[in-house]
Amino acid sequence: MNLLRRHPIACALLLLVLLSALDPLPPLVDVVSGAPPGDAELSLPVWYVVLAPVSNTLDALTFLSLDRARWLLAVWVVALAAWGYLRGGTRRRRVARGLAAALAPFVAGAAAALLPRPVARLVTADSSVTVIDYHAHTSASHDGRPGWTALDLARWHAAQGFAASYVTDHNVVFDQRVGQPVRLLPGAEWSVYGQHVVALADTLLIDRDRFNRDARSLLAVFPELHRVGALGIASLPEYWRNHWDDLDDFVAAGLDGFEIVNCAPKALAFSDAPRGQVLDLARQHDLLVVGASDNHGWGKATCVWNLSLPGAKGYAANRVVARPIALAQGEWLPWTAPYTQGWLMLRGLSWSERVSWLTWVLVILIYRAVPRREGDARGLGILARSLKVRIFRRRAPPPSA
Ligand SMILES: [Zn+2]
Repeated sequence: MNLLRRHPIACALLLLVLLSALDPLPPLVDVVSGAPPGDAELSLPVWYVVLAPVSNTLDALTFLSLDRARWLLAVWVVALAAWGYLRGGTRRRRVARGLAAALAPFVAGAAAALLPRPVARLVTADSSVTVIDYHAHTSASHDGRPGWTALDLARWHAAQGFAASYVTDHNVVFDQRVGQPVRLLPGAEWSVYGQHVVALADTLLIDRDRFNRDARSLLAVFPELHRVGALGIASLPEYWRNHWDDLDDFVAAGLDGFEIVNCAPKALAFSDAPRGQVLDLARQHDLLVVGASDNHGWGKATCVWNLSLPGAKGYAANRVVARPIALAQGEWLPWTAPYTQGWLMLRGLSWSERVSWLTWVLVILIYRAVPRREGDARGLGILARSLKVRIFRRRAPPPSA
């Protein structure tokens, strides 16, 4: 009871880590069936698991839709600032502590975008499929991370179990040849009249102005892509936000497929209901459905992978597997993010990650609960000091008779 009163945060965290195990989420699901894919799983590096509280938190921050990210940031900044300010001490100390606490969510967000760290890797038992990404960027895109080269992108994909990726910079055809550590394939992402069309294969430069005038002119981009030997995939969130009523026209005009998951924050709000409609349409017309990391050089983790059957065409040619926490972004209202994101993260822990969380919380709890001598400040020195005192005593010479 005393422990609970003195260390409520650690006790609450222990309880949440244990309770969330009662309603677990699988690490990975097939986006069409909603069930775990039997033939693919996530492999976690040892250091990912050892540092699970950091790894999982940074992943959870990476897989936030834009609106949910804003809510999470706003609420946690205010809550942490209040917590820091209300913890006693001189006014100056309280203000400094409040400001430092308010900065923490920004630091965590920057770490999620930039910090090198171990990441989950997809492994598949089926050697006939290629693990592929259909949509990713380099610094050749206006919004790509400066200095983010094709080789950086290839390494990013290799670390997460991809064997290949299309490089689809904005309105630029990718013309480099990169074969290691993964194969980078040529493509482009054409912006035409409020729609982004991912073009796969060696796409000769197209005259974008011709397709940019109105919704009718946009439709002509699909036959034009076929003419230059490319497939045209409608990208998220644009077809959902700007062209939801035009999808039948897209199909009639020769569109080859739809993205059904895209990991960009503005696309993660796409929810199960419209995804179901797009899947129905794709099934009826035997169109490709794909997942897209839409990586721009920020963030270390993808939320989606594709298991592609080489040589196959249409709906059956590709399977999309994704992280449930990313798919949940469209199912939860934005203002719930400050508490649902953490809960989704904890529900998604494997047992090894859960044990890592429990160990870290217990070690910190035990350390903080060690009785202190009078006058000792809280700090990392306590354990060291008590150790030193003991060693010193043991070495003291016996009292002379
Ligand atoms: Zn893109």
